[in-house]
Amino acid sequence: MSGLFSSSTEGKHLFYKTDAEIELMREANLVVSKTLALVAGMLKPGVTGVQIDKAAEEFIRDHHGRPAFKGYHGFPASLCVSYNDIVVHGIPGNREFREEDVVSVDCGVELNGFFGDAAFTFAMANVEEPVMELLRVTYASLYKGIEQAVAGKRIGDISFAIQHYCEREHSYGVVRELVGHGIGRSLHEDPEVPNYGKRGKGPLLQDGLVLAIEPMINLGVKEVYQNNDGWTIHTRDRKPSAHYEHSVAVRKGKADVLSNHQFILDEIKNNPSLKEVSPKS
Ligand code: MG
Ligand code: MG
Repeated sequence: MSGLFSSSTEGKHLFYKTDAEIELMREANLVVSKTLALVAGMLKPGVTGVQIDKAAEEFIRDHHGRPAFKGYHGFPASLCVSYNDIVVHGIPGNREFREEDVVSVDCGVELNGFFGDAAFTFAMANVEEPVMELLRVTYASLYKGIEQAVAGKRIGDISFAIQHYCEREHSYGVVRELVGHGIGRSLHEDPEVPNYGKRGKGPLLQDGLVLAIEPMINLGVKEVYQNNDGWTIHTRDRKPSAHYEHSVAVRKGKADVLSNHQFILDEIKNNPSLKEVSPKS
């Protein structure tokens, strides 16, 4: 789940995690990643958001986790399920998925007092090439952001890397209203991690800071609006959107990615209803 952008730009209260705490966060993120892999194995035309949400909640609880989104500011489900023109924060419903849908699934888990948070946008078998390219570029931008999540850099270095790649190099819309975030004993901690910004600006990244980096990128315009359910965020022009997220620990030299998409990618390979998505190289 992404944070709502607030006007305060400087991190006020940054919590640095010990090595032992980072290992606990890796465990929470392992449950997140395996839950998303379970979803990857279930997705096919005719399946509904309610069905994947129910399976996800059971899986999380079976693994001694708590679905972090359920009840968060009143959110009614364990997953955010956001298809096509829904950017993020979609409430799982009874609409059946179709073979031309893109489906973004965001999962958060609390385990041992720490949170994990990751997301993946899936492509059904008939998604057309311009939308597949949006997914590959958005996925690649996540790793461009992660490359900057090293001690000594600043939040703005992450933000700039994502914005420059998606907006300048690929002319997509970079959503402004929703942002990545610090994560730890709370789902949303300081600092905010916008997907746009200036190099060398913003809070300093130091060893042990854990961030949820999550580009939300639109095929068309960057503008979004919130549905009257108080949650669902749509693109203003109703064109598709993509969302990939990892929880990462800032380290010296190289970030440590705590969530693991490999479980998801392996399931996609074995699911004929889904197209494979890999970061654009
Ligand atoms: Mg999330
Ligand atoms: Mg998040």
